[in-house]
Amino acid sequence: MAGESLHTMGQQHGRRSWAEPWKIKMVEPLRVTTRAERNAALSEAGYNTFLLRSDDVYIDLLTDSGTSAMSDRQWAGMMLGDEAYAGSRNFYHLEEAVQRYYGYRHVVPTHQGRGAEHLISQTLIKAGDHVPGNMYFTTTRLHQELAGATFHDVIVDVAHDAAAIHPFKGDIDLDKLGALIDEVGADRIPYVSLAGTVNMAGGQPVSMANVRALRALCDRHGIKLMLDATRMVENALFIQEREAGYADQSIAQILLEFCSYTDGAWMSAKKDNLVNIGGWLAVNDDDVFEELRNLVVVYEGLHTYGGLAGRDMEALAIGIAEAVQDEHVRSRVGQVRYLGELLTEWGIPIVQPIGGHAIFLDARRFYAHLEQDLFPAQTLAAELYLDSGIRSMERGIASAGRDPGTGDHHRPKLELTRLTIPRRVYTQAHMDVVAESVKACFDARESARGLRMVYEPKYLRFFQARFEPT
Ligand SMILES: *Cc1c(COP(=O)(O)O)cnc(C)c1O
Repeated sequence: MAGESLHTMGQQHGRRSWAEPWKIKMVEPLRVTTRAERNAALSEAGYNTFLLRSDDVYIDLLTDSGTSAMSDRQWAGMMLGDEAYAGSRNFYHLEEAVQRYYGYRHVVPTHQGRGAEHLISQTLIKAGDHVPGNMYFTTTRLHQELAGATFHDVIVDVAHDAAAIHPFKGDIDLDKLGALIDEVGADRIPYVSLAGTVNMAGGQPVSMANVRALRALCDRHGIKLMLDATRMVENALFIQEREAGYADQSIAQILLEFCSYTDGAWMSAKKDNLVNIGGWLAVNDDDVFEELRNLVVVYEGLHTYGGLAGRDMEALAIGIAEAVQDEHVRSRVGQVRYLGELLTEWGIPIVQPIGGHAIFLDARRFYAHLEQDLFPAQTLAAELYLDSGIRSMERGIASAGRDPGTGDHHRPKLELTRLTIPRRVYTQAHMDVVAESVKACFDARESARGLRMVYEPKYLRFFQARFEPT
């Protein structure tokens, strides 16, 4: 790492290392709207990009969840769906793929990530427990709270500073975790909730050194270590690029080693695993598996389909193998970096270093004149849509929700607008168009006046909340 900026580290694999390792076989036309049409659509949607119709969107960077382009192999796999109620051959293929690439012994399919989060939370958490994690994820934390736990953010402090350059801003602060263990007692902590590339921190990775040290700490106290593996493949690339001793190891090798320090994982396969729907849960412990296999039948479906069609499990099994290919991961993260570097060159404030799946615009600095209660990140998402029809998402005060104790807003340090890049979908030219639109909003930043929330749902409010211009 010495002498090299984090941004150039990705280029160590040679010229144009991130060119896509595929070509395009089928295309989907995009619709370009007028500003008047976008104005009407946005006001109809309550200034919430989640409530826009996708027909009114030009370049859709709302999320990388379920938006990947599947390969011809995956589409071919869809035709091999074995839609038997029980014991579908596609389940065994999926089980084998998870065991081989993630290394866990037992696999439970679920309809998507939150189905897996629900099952693991209900299985491991008792009312009054405490769950520490590296920052938080919306659905993960909610399932832990619904199961009766209090969530504690024990990520390193630097993660909350959008401008700070640090190779592993996703790491857990072992002192913070140690202090929590002393305070509440190890027996009230069923597991540590560790996420690979922390979404809410800007897609920031966890180091191998950190997970190794966590394993040792958890072992000393008899606490489980559970992994949110949703974007762990991208995390493995950052370890390969930034951590001593890993430059010559493949993504697959790094992934397997990282998972080996954990007791199990839940997965939103809609991200890394290159499918439009799906999830899974995997554990090593026989008794925990027994309980999960019981519970999945209640909420998702029989343990050999868990809410998925056989064809979905087949596409997922193939997607897992494609997702861990070095060339794939390099081009995926390379495209994100291309956009981030362009914005950085133009002086636009984004979370640094550039993460694995998205560019996070720092709305605090972008709209320095707007206080947080005026929803600056939500405002930026609205302005970007108005400018060009590009859809992004708020990751700030609206996403953070309210404190269940006091009822007041959580006010996160990070107030971000996320441009999330779907896997294998858009071209470099699309990234240029996105960058130019962000620049146009930046140039007009002084005229932004903020939003107020006029409708607020009880759970995960950012999905369906409605806003009005102030
Ligand atoms: C998307 C996501 C989830 C939830 O998964 P779904 O498939 O959307 O239900 C959990 N954790 C992380 C880090 C995610 O990004």
